Amino acid sequence: MEKIAVDLHIHSCLSPCGDEEMTPNNIVNMAIIKELDYIAVTDHNSAKNLPAVFEVVESLDEGICFLPGIEVTTKEEAHVLAYFKTVEQALELDAILYKRLPNILNKPELFGPQLILNSEDQVVGQVDKLLISATDIGISELCGLVNEIGGIIVPAHIDRKSYSIIASLGFVPPDLAIKTLEVSKQSDIEKVKKSYRFFRDYQFIHSSDAHQLMDIAEREYFLELADLQRETLLIWLGKEQTSC
Ligand SMILES: [Zn+2]
Ligand SMILES: [Zn+2]
Repeated sequence: MEKIAVDLHIHSCLSPCGDEEMTPNNIVNMAIIKELDYIAVTDHNSAKNLPAVFEVVESLDEGICFLPGIEVTTKEEAHVLAYFKTVEQALELDAILYKRLPNILNKPELFGPQLILNSEDQVVGQVDKLLISATDIGISELCGLVNEIGGIIVPAHIDRKSYSIIASLGFVPPDLAIKTLEVSKQSDIEKVKKSYRFFRDYQFIHSSDAHQLMDIAEREYFLELADLQRETLLIWLGKEQTSC
């Protein structure tokens, strides 16, 4: 087994709250400087910067691995991470999410621009709909959709008093194919684990939820994996998604 340093929740400049410095090259290079083994870029309700991040990772050939992801806002206003084996799968969910976001346009001067970049960090577009809105997809439906595409879900920052599955529902629906829960950076996993009895049925990960370069995790969150294949990480993170 290998001890893998991970940060599986990082926002790019596509997220309106993400710093404009969070470009594909800056994110990947900062992760390399911090000697991370695995990163996931998980923008709010969109995968449109993942092709560029993927290209940067491939072109640098520095041994850093990349897991495609999206942080989905469900209709219950819970943030749920969806992870996939391929960027194409993430883009498949992206297309569904775009349709199922409300028709509220982003106001860049108020919320920040939602920039789509290429692998040279050039701006090639912006997303018009406000990406921090909630979609009209419930947690259970999301689990099914992600599963159908071939991905898995991990509820995000479950210890937070807002925008978490616990804040919204008060529990993790036991019928959903969920194996892993994410705890935010400032919380102690052991303490969170003890806060609800049903948490003993889950495993926990820490991520940075970085919106700025300096907030990307150090070599501080580790997973034990047999190898660095995306498939291996997805199997570790997710339950076989047959029950959604
Ligand atoms: Zn979040
Ligand atoms: Zn986030």
